[in-house]
Amino acid sequence: MAGCVEGKVALVTGGASGIGRATALTFAMEGAKLVVADMNVDGGQQTVHMITENGGEAIFVQVDVTSTSAVEAMLSKTVETYGRLDCAHNNAGIAGRVRAPLHECPEDVWDQVLAINLKGVWLCMKYEITQMLHQGSGTIVNTASIMGLVGSWSGTSAYNASKHGVVGLTKTASLEYAKAGIRVNAVCPGYIWTPLIEQALLSRPEMEEQIIARHPVGRMGQPEEIAEAVVWLCSDAASFVTGHTMTVDGGYVAQ
Ligand code: NAD
Repeated sequence: MAGCVEGKVALVTGGASGIGRATALTFAMEGAKLVVADMNVDGGQQTVHMITENGGEAIFVQVDVTSTSAVEAMLSKTVETYGRLDCAHNNAGIAGRVRAPLHECPEDVWDQVLAINLKGVWLCMKYEITQMLHQGSGTIVNTASIMGLVGSWSGTSAYNASKHGVVGLTKTASLEYAKAGIRVNAVCPGYIWTPLIEQALLSRPEMEEQIIARHPVGRMGQPEEIAEAVVWLCSDAASFVTGHTMTVDGGYVAQ
């Protein structure tokens, strides 16, 4: 049986770990050919191996999404390998190494979080959209967050600002390219069990209970639950969906 993205070419940034890896694996299971992109070479190659050992097609590209030349090279490699780009999941991101109220947030933390989480998404979109305009079609899903829709109590002002920015970029690009056959959406995960959260909980394990209590379903999510939404948004089943910020959050922002 054909998968929902059979034969399409999909690019996933942050594909070495967590949500990005789960999305790359789901894309592959649904028939797409993958470009797994990340700074982390070992993790990225491991994701590629997980795909190819199950009969899928994938390559790894090392990229720092804050670097124009690296992002440009990532797109060149994609087109050189597969001839096109149908689906892009701009997902690479960080939480920021310090959690502190805004007035205590070090400037370099602000700069790094905004550079990766917001400028990185913009740069990837810039080169992906250039290719998609050339083809006359394509779909993009950006990983925003519930923290792109609401404020936070947990000392993450830079992160929240970056993710609100991703939502704004997504909506604006969806309007700019709607008539060009390019759909642009965002997924807004609640708290998901990935290395990003595990790392944050190492220093503040007491937060786990508080985080779970804020999700009406009474648990955190799994990366695969985000992957399903991303792949659906990229599939033809979502052909009339653009400019949407899809929460996959166990009810977090419904409260
Ligand atoms: P993760 O740490 O497991 O994965 C993030 C990946 O991004 C890593 O493989 C890392 O190497 C890569 N990366 C970081 N900086 C990069 C850069 N400059 N260039 C290229 N790659 C880079 O984390 P995750 O939880 O899977 O996070 C993925 C995305 O989901 C992030 O944008 C994050 O903000 C978002 N998100 C996560 C959660 C959550 O609870 N885990 C919730 C909402 C949104």
